Amino acid sequence: MNEGRLIVLTGPSGVGKGTLLKHLCQRHPQLQVSVSLTTRAPRPGEIPGQSYIFVSREEFQAAIQAGALLEWAEYADHYYGTPRQAVEQALQQGKWVILEIEVVGARQIRQNFPQARLIFICPPTWATLEQRLRQRGQDSEAAMQKRLERAKQELQAAPEFDAQVVNDNLEQAIHELEIRLGLTYADNVKPPQE
Ligand code: ADP
Ligand code: 5GP
Repeated sequence: MNEGRLIVLTGPSGVGKGTLLKHLCQRHPQLQVSVSLTTRAPRPGEIPGQSYIFVSREEFQAAIQAGALLEWAEYADHYYGTPRQAVEQALQQGKWVILEIEVVGARQIRQNFPQARLIFICPPTWATLEQRLRQRGQDSEAAMQKRLERAKQELQAAPEFDAQVVNDNLEQAIHELEIRLGLTYADNVKPPQE
């Protein structure tokens, strides 16, 4: 069986990982996104089972105990984790699976899947990161402060990963990710404009 590829996008909250992932997946249908478990409440517009699988703390603990998570971490008072079975099954089927996770979980993937490709997304400046978190406008001030505090530590981890991509101009960042990941275009998909 053709072994798939495991790709990880990591970096601080608000840097644009979700935005980059959305564009990459639109342009490269061969990418399969892993849907994470989380104990945080859904934000307006988030679709259960699509944005996240929203679970209670008890359900999350049970998933850890059952070994059902490929990696997991606590982040700003909530738990987040990657369901093992769906990812392993897709990889066995030769698919390209992409995870969008924070740094603690990304380190677990690096340790357990040495063949995975892990990309750290950097903000152009600290002020930009703060501005993006605020403009998203979906976190309380307290939650935002926790995320900014965590982001300071996370930024120091950037050199641990296989490559670093600065998300300043969105199109340029997508293009650089495509190069780093060896993604080529399907015939029916238009490449980003330079
Ligand atoms: P993350 O998934 O890393 O938490 P998001 O993808 O939710 O981050 O992005 C945070 C905010 O920044 C969103 O409002 C998004 O539209 C915006 N954003 C993302 N990338 C860029 C970019 N290159 N330029 C300007 N704004 C961006
Ligand atoms: P948010 O609450 O903004 O959706 O996510 C908070 C942080 O958790 C983000 O950095 C996001 O990438 C990360 N995250 C989302 N899913 C997972 C997961 O399954 N595992 C880990 N370790 N982090 C995750």
